[in-house]
Amino acid sequence: VTRLERLRARLDRRPLLVTGLVNVRYLTGLDSSAAALLVESERLRLFTDSRYLEAAKAVEGAEIVDVGRNLLATLATHLEGEVGFEAGHVTYAGYEALATGGATLVPTHGTVEVLRAVKEQDELDALRSASALSDRVFAELADERFVGRTEKDLAAWIDHRFRELGADGSSFPTIVGGGPNGALPHHHPSDRAIGPNEAVVVDFGCLLDGYCSDCTRTFATGTLPDELAQAYAVCLDAQERSLAAVLAGARCLDVDLVAREIVDATAFAGLFAHGLGHGVGMDIHEAPSLRPEAPPTAVLEAGNVVTVEPGIYLPGVGGVRIEDLVVVTADGPERLTRYTKDLIEVS
Ligand code: ZN
Ligand code: ZN
Repeated sequence: VTRLERLRARLDRRPLLVTGLVNVRYLTGLDSSAAALLVESERLRLFTDSRYLEAAKAVEGAEIVDVGRNLLATLATHLEGEVGFEAGHVTYAGYEALATGGATLVPTHGTVEVLRAVKEQDELDALRSASALSDRVFAELADERFVGRTEKDLAAWIDHRFRELGADGSSFPTIVGGGPNGALPHHHPSDRAIGPNEAVVVDFGCLLDGYCSDCTRTFATGTLPDELAQAYAVCLDAQERSLAAVLAGARCLDVDLVAREIVDATAFAGLFAHGLGHGVGMDIHEAPSLRPEAPPTAVLEAGNVVTVEPGIYLPGVGGVRIEDLVVVTADGPERLTRYTKDLIEVS
């Protein structure tokens, strides 16, 4: 069964207008910065402009529409009756442009994303390859000098290494947070030089064949202050036990709770201040989401690919986070990121 057939099986009688570019790529293989797909039960129209017409011809069974210079205005003239649109991928101005055609626009939410959340074998292979590449960069990074180098310098080294090894780039902006900067979960690498005896949170991933990897390890430049060493031990325990709870059928919020209860039972209560994990695929953040706010009805399915990444953040002191990317199966998690989770001492 093709992706398009699975999508059609999920549609109500209305056609669906797909304007999310990653969704268009998922359904057709067309990687374009200006494209849309109109999916009906018996008909498929692919709208794009002259830059992508040649590539669009490779899409099987699609009628190609050249939109000239204005995608949305042209689209509007092709819509009639009731048409579903992707509420998460249309701006208000875009909605206004689409509405000029007189069709009745009906918002839909996450229709294609639900399909994307369950990976096919070739997608899992791509995610395995991307993760193996980040494992290699982590191993090489551990041999690099940390002390005296700025966070920006280390981040640039990581990004460059990915390119050298054949990745298409980083899957999100590389995070290197040394000392007190490690207490900021999404810190941007700064000009601060890494010092001795501090924790360095390093979170990165690469993009390979259209799929993302995502992994965090925390390094130590010598002996850590007691508080941080303890935080590391608690974080590792929370990570491994919540990882073991990743199972088809488990509720997303319960998996989060496993890690949260472990951290909250210690002196670090309340210092794990973000969700446990997120889905990863063509996008670095996608469905499903492991966090306390996940709906009680949200359960993990075999074929989901999620991160498990508890962290403990001590303001002004430092942070620790340990993140793995795993495939959900009926028998437990298949770890894609396999680099060691022992606290790694670097120079
Ligand atoms: Zn990450
Ligand atoms: Zn992540």
